[in-house]
Amino acid sequence: MTTKYTSIEDLLACDRFHTDEKHPHIVVDSRRCAACTSRPCLTSCPAHLYTQDLQDGSLHFDHLGCLECGTCRFVCAVMGKQGIIQWSYPKRTSGVQYRYG
Ligand code: SF4
Ligand code: SF4
Repeated sequence: MTTKYTSIEDLLACDRFHTDEKHPHIVVDSRRCAACTSRPCLTSCPAHLYTQDLQDGSLHFDHLGCLECGTCRFVCAVMGKQGIIQWSYPKRTSGVQYRYG
């Protein structure tokens, strides 16, 4: 059987999540993020989990829906920001389950 997808949203919709809501596997330091002006995480997370409050400009992060790609960890570190103070894979049986590759 061949399945055709038209967008990345179609592919992401195939994934399943068993997220540990009480124990985030990624933790950001809001004070460091407040001082970060470039904020590459906003545009590099494929799941759009980093957002910016339009009113006060504060950074928000939600680990639910994380694809565990590591991009945010990489861009934050490469830019020397150090706002991500914890990045680990979710514990066994938690996290994303990829389907169709
Ligand atoms: S690991 Fe990937 S999907 Fe998860 S928050 Fe970071 S950039 Fe987004
Ligand atoms: S790049 Fe790092 S320090 Fe800057 S806003 Fe994103 S998580 Fe925070």
